[in-house]
Amino acid sequence: MLFRGTTQTSCGQGQAAMGPFYCPADQKVYINLGFYEILKNRLGAPGEFAQAYVISHEVGHHVQNLLGISAKMDQMRGRVSRVEYNALSVRLELQADCFAGVWAHNADNSRHILEGGDVESAMNAAAKIGDDALQRASGGAVVPESFTHGTSAQRQRWFNAGLKNGGIRVCDTFSAKNL
Ligand SMILES: [Zn+2]
Repeated sequence: MLFRGTTQTSCGQGQAAMGPFYCPADQKVYINLGFYEILKNRLGAPGEFAQAYVISHEVGHHVQNLLGISAKMDQMRGRVSRVEYNALSVRLELQADCFAGVWAHNADNSRHILEGGDVESAMNAAAKIGDDALQRASGGAVVPESFTHGTSAQRQRWFNAGLKNGGIRVCDTFSAKNL
């Protein structure tokens, strides 16, 4: 679902302003088009494939929902400390990045969608929306305990892992020793 400004979702209205997200309650991906402008103009990640990466990351959350991974995460909420929950959130988000790479691999295999520069523009977007990059861009200090999505390097690494392999078995970020 594409929108500008705000929109009504089964996950409430407030989230709409926060950029792209997946709402498990209505199983829809919400893409705020204003975020694409920010991505391109303010964060320096232009390109159609940067946008495709954002969509496929959100669809990755839908896959996690179908696989029951999101439900396991919800069970942990309130049972672990904020810092521990953030660490789990990073693993969840990096897995969605990996799933995005798996999509790109298979879409290219079946329909040859990748053009020159596409992978680079997705990798660049992954870097620009890493928690460390975003914290630096907003002029704040980089606080690893507050990370919820992973660093630029981690987001690139997991997108690339899915892209290279094309199967979701390489996306087990929850068992990975090193992210
Ligand atoms: Zn996400």
